[in-house]
Amino acid sequence: MKQLILVINAGSSSIKFSLFEQGEPDPVLLYKGQVEGIYVEPYFTAKSADGDKLAAENLPADGPKSHDQALRHILKWLENHTAGRKLAVIGHRVVHGGRRFSRPELVTHEIISELEALVPLAPLHAPHNITPIRILAELLPGVPQVVCFDTAFHANQPEINQLYALPYDFSQREGIRRYGFHGLSYEYIAAVLPEIDARAAAGRTVVAHLGNGASMAALSACHGVASTMGFTALEGLPMGTRTGSIDAGVVLHLMNHLHMDAKGIEDLLYKKSGLLGLSGISSDMRELHASDDPRAKLAVDYFVSKIAREAASLAVTLQGIDALVFTAGIGENDDIVRRDVCRQLGWLGVELDESLNAQRSGQPRLISTPQSQVAVYVVPTNEELMIARHSLGCVDETASQYAATPTPA
Ligand code: ADP
Repeated sequence: MKQLILVINAGSSSIKFSLFEQGEPDPVLLYKGQVEGIYVEPYFTAKSADGDKLAAENLPADGPKSHDQALRHILKWLENHTAGRKLAVIGHRVVHGGRRFSRPELVTHEIISELEALVPLAPLHAPHNITPIRILAELLPGVPQVVCFDTAFHANQPEINQLYALPYDFSQREGIRRYGFHGLSYEYIAAVLPEIDARAAAGRTVVAHLGNGASMAALSACHGVASTMGFTALEGLPMGTRTGSIDAGVVLHLMNHLHMDAKGIEDLLYKKSGLLGLSGISSDMRELHASDDPRAKLAVDYFVSKIAREAASLAVTLQGIDALVFTAGIGENDDIVRRDVCRQLGWLGVELDESLNAQRSGQPRLISTPQSQVAVYVVPTNEELMIARHSLGCVDETASQYAATPTPA
C-alpha cells in the first residue's frame, strides 16, 4: 500500500496540515487544512486536493492544551478519511536551523534538545514549531518525524552575504549573522526551474517570494547566494505587518526617547508596521487595491519600490540577471504589483507582456516579451511538497543506512 506523509506547519495560533500519498515521481496531495484561532476560537477547515471544502467547524477552546487538542482533532479527521491507514512519516516546517542545521533531519531526543537551544534565534516562532513535534511523539510514538528548515537553503551563501558589520566575534560566537528564510519555497523554485528555463537554471535568477511574509533571494545555478532576510524574518522587504529593513538607530530612539520596552517594540515592528502600518487600512494586498484611500496607494507603492530596489541589489550580487521569478500569494496572483515592479526594472532590460501578465493559471508561466533581456516568470510555490519529499527521503535514507549496516557476528 502507498505510504502516507503528513506535513505540519505550526504557528502561534494556527496549525496547517497537508496529507500526501507516496507517488511517482512525487508525493500526491490528498487533503489540506488547518486549525486557526488556537487559544481564542479554534476553527477547523479541510479541503480535498481539488479545493472542495470537506470540513468547517468550531472546536471547543481549551486553554493551554489547545495545540494538543488541535492536533488530536486533525489526526482523528485524517484517520476517518484514510480508513485508518498508518502514517509513514510526519514532516515539520521549522523556521530556524541556526548554523547547526543545513539539511532536513530525522527527529530524535537529541535533535529536539538542539532545536530548543535555537529558540532564542526565533523566539516568536520556534517554540510553536517544537510543541507539535513533542505532542505527536506522544500520540504516535512509532511514526518517524522529520524537521525541515526555512534557513537551510541559504546555509551555503558566501560569507560576505551572511555577515553584519558588527565585530566579527558576534557572528562567530553569538551566531548573529544573516540566515535568510522562506528557504523551502526557494528550494522548490530551484527544483522546478530547470524544466522551465534551462538558461536561468544554469545562470542568474532573482526570486521574489511575496506573501504575508515577503523576501527575495539571488540564485546562481539554482544555489542560494544572497537573501533579503537576515538574522530574523524582519529584514528586507516591507511585509503585511512587518517593517522590513529599518535603521537600527530607530530602535534605539524608540527605547531611549519614547521609552518603549522590548515587547512594545517587537509588537510595533512585527505586527503593526508594513502594509498595515503605512496604509492604516489592511495588511491584505487585495484590500489595499480595492481602497481609494491615498495611503493604501502609498503602502503599495512603497512595497513595489522596495522589491525593485532589492531586485537590482541582488542582480549586482549575481553580476547580472537572466530571470526574475514571482511566487507566493501576492507574487502568484497580483498582476498590478508584478507590472509595477517590472516597469521600475525596465532599465535592466525587463519587458513585461501585459496581456500574459494579466492571465491567470495555477501553472508556471512566462510573462515577459520575447525581446525582454530578463525572462520573467510566475511560478506557484509548493513548500508542503518540498517537506513531503524531504520527509520521505530522510526515512528512506535512514532505512537504507540500517540495511547497509552489517549485523554483528
Ligand atoms: P503567507 O503564506 O506568508 O501567510 P500567502 O503566500 O498566502 O502568505 O500570501 C498572502 C498575501 O497574498 C496577502 O497579502 C493577500 O492579499 C495576497 N493575495 C492573495 N490572493 C491575491 C490576489 N488575487 N491578488 C492580490 N493579492 C493576493
